[in-house]
Amino acid sequence: MEGPISMPEKPATLGALDETERDAYEKQVFDLRQLVEVSKSLNSTLDYNILIDSILFTIMGQMKVLKAGLFAKKGIDTPYFSLHRNYKGFEVDHATNFAIAEDHDLIKLLSRHYRCYSLDEIKERLGSFRGIEGLASLEPSLVVPLKAKGVINGIIIIGKQIEDEAFTDNDKSYVLDIAILAAIAINNAFLFEMTTTDMMTKLKMKHYFYTVLLEKMEHSAVHDRALSIVMIDIDFFKKFNDTYGHQCGDAVLKQVARIIQASVRTVDLAARYGGEEFCVLLPDTDKEHALAVAERIRKGVSGTATVYDGLTLHVTISLGAAQYDPARDVSGKSLIDRADRALYSSKQAGRDRVTIAE
Ligand code: GH3
Ligand code: MG
Ligand code: MG
Repeated sequence: MEGPISMPEKPATLGALDETERDAYEKQVFDLRQLVEVSKSLNSTLDYNILIDSILFTIMGQMKVLKAGLFAKKGIDTPYFSLHRNYKGFEVDHATNFAIAEDHDLIKLLSRHYRCYSLDEIKERLGSFRGIEGLASLEPSLVVPLKAKGVINGIIIIGKQIEDEAFTDNDKSYVLDIAILAAIAINNAFLFEMTTTDMMTKLKMKHYFYTVLLEKMEHSAVHDRALSIVMIDIDFFKKFNDTYGHQCGDAVLKQVARIIQASVRTVDLAARYGGEEFCVLLPDTDKEHALAVAERIRKGVSGTATVYDGLTLHVTISLGAAQYDPARDVSGKSLIDRADRALYSSKQAGRDRVTIAE
């Protein structure tokens, strides 16, 4: 944690407080209680999008502002902070570049002198807005750094207060307290993202898929909603590797992953199940619709060439789809096995096709 959360100063004797002092003291106690609530709320999710929303709404409520946005890193390997699309209230010109390089002087300033800044203070310290034109164009009233484990991992920007008053020192110290909690929550979500995402394809990994599958099966059984999965395996991939080399195989794997991801909705979950095997979880989808999705993926892969080292290459995939049946699928494994057997039938029947499990 970055320094202690500010504690109310204990008065010498409580009885010696006049009304104003007592009000201030009670306000501090109230703020601390709020911080505990904020902490609980921010620690209750590891879902990045939900977390960002939660942070922004918290800041807006606590600081009484109508505009809030957050700059964070989109991925593990990006050297830029970019404005998260869940920003609130700001008028954003989409032609503007909002990226801030991680080695920009602003990041160094926020790291070395960790506090809130107005835009004027930033200009005074840095001399210009070069490299942070996007942030400056939003004209935030306050720029609040997020720092966890000694590293800046985001920047919150907020607009002016509803009552149009300037932020007091108390406001600034309070928003920094929230930012400390937010930074830790973001760090946790980021670590979770890292340990559940396959770095090569950027798809989720098997263990994460399985956890979500069990959750969705439960939800589907309780609410009587359809749920389907699709298992996917690249055809003759061993031979492909032998012919073109493993590196080239990797390029194809990434391409197939991209096509799968682009063929499904955001509520669906695409994962890399194994070496050259993928799976997709389709909530609220019966087997007929799962077939349509699987066909879309199949056609996408067979119709897209991968250009590698001057070579234009094609692969096909075989797929098996299965709809969750609470009466039969007593475990996640049972559903996956059924989809797997359907996939095997696709292989047997000549590959580059979809089979639905009965
Ligand atoms: P089939 O049509 O029956 O699926 O034939 P196949 O050759 O694809 O057989 P199988 O699915 O058993 O082969 C898996 C091959 O995928 C083995 C390995 O060479 C290749 N593979 C697995 N993981 C990776 C990877 O990360 N990169 C590359 N380049 N190849 C991989
Ligand atoms: Mg395989
Ligand atoms: Mg294969």
